[in-house]
Amino acid sequence: MVRIARIAVPVPLPQAFDYAVPEDTPVPPVGARVRVRFAHRTLVGLCLGLDPDDAFAEPKPLLEVLDAASAVTEDLLGLGHWLAGYYHHPIGEVFAAMLPKAALRGAPLSWRAVEVWLRVEGVATDLSRAPRQRALLAFIEGRGGWAGGADLRAAGFSAAMIAALARKGAIRAGERPIELEKPLLLTADQERVVQAYRNAPRGFSANLLEGVTGSGKTEVYLQVLGEVLARGGQALVLVPEIALTPQTVARFRRRYGAVDVLHSGLSDGERLTAWLRCRDGAARILIGTRSAVFTPFKRLGLIVVDEEHDASFKQQDRLRYSARDVAVKRAKDLDIPLILGSATPSLESLENVRTGRYRRQRLAKRATGAAMPRIHILDIRGQRLLDGLSQPLLRRIKRHLEAGGQVLVFLNRRGYAPAYLCAACGWQAVCGACDARLTLHRGRRRLACHHCGTEWPVPAACPACDGAGLVAVGAGTERVDEALRSGFPDVSLIRIDRDTTRSQRRLEAGLAKIAQGGPSILVGTQMLAKGHHFPNITLVAAVNADAGFLSADFKAPERTAQLLIQVAGRAGRADRPGHVWIQTLQPDNPALKRLVEAGYAGFAEHELGSRHRVGLPPARHMALLRAAAADPDAPSRFLKGIKTLLAGAANLDASAEFPRRREQAHRLEIFGPAPAPMPRRANLHRRQLMLLAASREVLHRSLNRLVRVSAPRGLRWDIDVDPIDAL
Ligand code: ADP
Ligand code: ZN
Ligand code: ZN
Repeated sequence: MVRIARIAVPVPLPQAFDYAVPEDTPVPPVGARVRVRFAHRTLVGLCLGLDPDDAFAEPKPLLEVLDAASAVTEDLLGLGHWLAGYYHHPIGEVFAAMLPKAALRGAPLSWRAVEVWLRVEGVATDLSRAPRQRALLAFIEGRGGWAGGADLRAAGFSAAMIAALARKGAIRAGERPIELEKPLLLTADQERVVQAYRNAPRGFSANLLEGVTGSGKTEVYLQVLGEVLARGGQALVLVPEIALTPQTVARFRRRYGAVDVLHSGLSDGERLTAWLRCRDGAARILIGTRSAVFTPFKRLGLIVVDEEHDASFKQQDRLRYSARDVAVKRAKDLDIPLILGSATPSLESLENVRTGRYRRQRLAKRATGAAMPRIHILDIRGQRLLDGLSQPLLRRIKRHLEAGGQVLVFLNRRGYAPAYLCAACGWQAVCGACDARLTLHRGRRRLACHHCGTEWPVPAACPACDGAGLVAVGAGTERVDEALRSGFPDVSLIRIDRDTTRSQRRLEAGLAKIAQGGPSILVGTQMLAKGHHFPNITLVAAVNADAGFLSADFKAPERTAQLLIQVAGRAGRADRPGHVWIQTLQPDNPALKRLVEAGYAGFAEHELGSRHRVGLPPARHMALLRAAAADPDAPSRFLKGIKTLLAGAANLDASAEFPRRREQAHRLEIFGPAPAPMPRRANLHRRQLMLLAASREVLHRSLNRLVRVSAPRGLRWDIDVDPIDAL
């Protein structure tokens, strides 16, 4: 008889915990949720196993079994164990991150289908004696032949009335009818790619679909997905940020009807419903952001990761997983194909192509036949900038607007100005809690720290010398917006950044206005780089790209190049050719020059070569250990201890198990502790240790030694495997 259940409890401890199953309680199936007491709290955990051989001798009783069957699919249980091992994260917290919030609170795992009632054509029913049913039928007919149950009830029709009319055969429950759009006729390039899937043996394959912006990658996803649906399978499409790509979701809906979505804009209840619909096989297509990669599916047949290079696929706190990498793991586990799509593939994916782990497919031309935009460098050395813009750039903007084009101005910095200082005494507005300058938000009359979120009113006079010499230095989107508004008063201008698009409605309204096509200017941050189509944009101007190429972060050039190419790709999608101007003080910067001359592919190849030469990812594997504490010395002290522990162990490993010649490849290199890129944030001092190893096994074996390391009071630390900013 089963007596003990091993439970993943959402607490920051590495192991799962054993609980006794009381006499009168059903035995929880593996994967079921249970309620347990843990350190004076009641928590919901997941049952991982029954009667383990090494069971704890005196387990406490569990309180309640919440599910009669496993809450998740079997592959997700395996995935949870894998995640805990790969990211060196507590198993209970891993499962907590994988489950929807509502499920973790103990909500029942049930969902109701959205109820839709349809007029049955050609059925004549005598309703002369049933005026309310007649009204109901008229209501449905007035709505074009179908109506949602909620709408019917809101209009005063009861469930009993609906049921009565349905019994007479005049209406029936069903799905919202939609006229589905036909697939496009594929270009020869697209056809080649889709055929490759059609003819490929079923089973796991990882495919990098490298297609220039506008080359029709989405159409390829749609058609490959159609094959999967036709066989009764489900498909998961991961996208960077749904809020920014309503067009993508709409396109899937037009083609296939019902599409479920999962993103942070949903309520907990909506998220749970989508999750359950996938698990129970009711959803056919799920489009979701990062955490949707943890959704259980009944018959998953395909995973697509769109814009696979995008940094938002990496979670930056707690369980620091990469949804793209987890997608690869899931596709492998489920033995299904995976498509990673991008115009600017990550160097990791290109490395995987190089080593033969991924297949590469290319779409080199735009599907519509539109020409690729031409990219030019605009040397602004020695020029006076007006609110961040040079005169030659302003002249070009004017010319494009006069010719009826639309203009996109890209700069990766929101607010009015990134620095506010006193010209008389040199005082600078800095954050009291971070090593950072404050950004001036002039419209809101605030100085804001973009790192800890603190805000101050803008002082009227210099706080140090009481003088009136305060000046805003540099330009952010707000400033460029203002300058262009006064320079081109008759042109409509839309700013898209995190300050202006807090509401989805406003963002969509802005995008709709641009879509109308009149002369307009779009000013924005990298939010603009993602997935939008602006067919009338003929000029893209990148205003401050230099910072990205000069940063000391080894990934910064890659990320900057991706951004520039993605933003450039917004230009000239229709019949008029697009031009891209990159305003720079560093026209001879080799990375920038290579990007402009050799395109992204040439840039990436070179960059990958230099990563290999210096032994940085993806040539070697990296983990970052970050520590933060109020005590300025504590993080260094803690990380030095860890370094000693790892160094001793790593040397032993190397000399004991490997012959001398292979020592190099199997060595773990440890750098630091060094200050974090921002050494102090929100009053915490931050240090980090960087681990590099040519072999994943060596890296993971070392990290495994840290499982039971406990941090001193007041110090927080974590392990970041495959970090995406490694400074
Ligand atoms: P990507 O995802 O690579 O940026 P999309 O699939 O969004 O490209 O396609 C870009 C544009 O080209 C869209 O407007 C789309 O409707 C159009 N398009 C894609 N494939 C075809 C095709 N085979 N024939 C005609 N137009 C196409
Ligand atoms: Zn002053
Ligand atoms: Zn701050």
